[in-house]
Parts: sequence; structure tokens; C-alpha cells
Amino acid sequence: MDEDIYENLKRIRFNIGEAKAKYRSSGDDLRIMAVTKTVPYQRVNMVIDDGITLLGENRVQEYLEKKDLYRQNAEVHFIGHLQSNKVKYIIDNVSLIHSVDSFRLASEIDRLAEKNGLCKNILIEVNIGGEESKSGVPEHEVRDLISEISQLKNIRIKGLMTIPPVGQSESSFERMQALFSDIRSEKYSNASMEILSMGMSSDYVLAVKYGSNIVRIGSAIFGSRK
Ligand SMILES: *Cc1c(COP(=O)(O)O)cnc(C)c1O
Repeated sequence: MDEDIYENLKRIRFNIGEAKAKYRSSGDDLRIMAVTKTVPYQRVNMVIDDGITLLGENRVQEYLEKKDLYRQNAEVHFIGHLQSNKVKYIIDNVSLIHSVDSFRLASEIDRLAEKNGLCKNILIEVNIGGEESKSGVPEHEVRDLISEISQLKNIRIKGLMTIPPVGQSESSFERMQALFSDIRSEKYSNASMEILSMGMSSDYVLAVKYGSNIVRIGSAIFGSRK
């Protein structure tokens, strides 16, 4: 079972390499994030040993239980839905929060960042399919939210993140790529569009096609979650 992880990573790297060669320019930055939810720390450490330098965490409690057991040479990003009252538990440990979708959450990140003397990097999560059940800000509210958050002194907006509706990855990624590039050219203060976080186990190749530079992969690396 453990050997599967190495086989899986090999296949994923191959697929990404092919898609990059086909669709992207050679210097383009693209990172594979290993998404760790429900995965025992030993298996997470296997992928770090195999060269994965980025972990994605969904659940505050689970992360706190595992973080000291991880090899410390991987960078950690928070990608799950985050309640304002939980920010304090993770802010010192994660270098990027992908899931900011409200001014209220951003304000709390800003407040704690200031208190700790840091400036925090975040992404805006976009609910590109406009789904009721999903977190993320609707596409038509993204600019207003960016304008509002860019007033905060201890936050830097670094880009956008999305989880597309099932079966609509390609059209969603295409729209995200356009939105990302439009917002970049609109030049908001404190908001540089450098990171487009999209693509998961079932659609990461498509995400590469549409300009993703962080693909967040869980089950295709570790096997399906129970
Ligand atoms: C679980 C999760 C992933 C990875 O999903 P897989 O389909 O297992 O690759 C990526 N992003 C977020 C936000 C997740 O919650």
C-alpha cells in the first residue's frame, strides 16, 4: 500500500509534465500540493521524502494534532473553510491561507497578523459555480471584496482559489483564468495576482491547461478517503 504513493506521485508528475509541455511556457511555476486530510502523518512524511514541498491542510484540529509529527521541511498552506475564531491556532504555522471569502475573516487574520508583527499572505476563494452549498465569494463580488480587504495593512492578497462544481471543471477553470488575468491588469493595491490555486485529483491536468500554479491533490496521491 505504501509503495502506491510513490507510483501515484510518479504518474501525477508525468501527467503534469506532459500538460505543462503542451500548454505552458517553460519557465512557468507550478507546484504540487499534497492535501493531507484524514491521512496519517507517516504517509504524509513519505511524500515529503519523495520531494513534495507543499502540504494543504483543511481542518484546524486535525492539523494541530499532526503538525509536530510532520517533517518540518515542507511548507504548509491552509485550504479548508476557516472560522474566524480558529485563525489564532494556525496563523503562525501556515504561510498562505487559500480560503478567504469574507471581510470578517480577513479582518481577523489582519488583527492577529498585526499582533504577531507579521504580514499574512492570502488567496480569495471564488465560488465560481455560484453553488449555494459551497464556500467562496460569488464571482460578481470578488472585486468588491478585494477592494475592501486591500485596505487592511497586514494582509497581502496573492491570488485566487476555487473548487469548481462537479462536471464543470473546464468551463470553470477557463473563467477563473480570465478573472485572474483581468484582476491582475486592474492593479488593485495590496493585491498581486501571482497564485491561481485550482485543480484536484480528478481535474488537475485541466487546471494546468488553464494556468493553475498550485494543484491541490489528495486522493490521487494517498488513495481514497474512508
Ligand atoms: C480535499 C481537498 C482537495 C483534494 O481533493 P482530492 O479530490 O482528494 O484531490 C483539494 N482542495 C480542497 C480545498 C480540498 O478540501
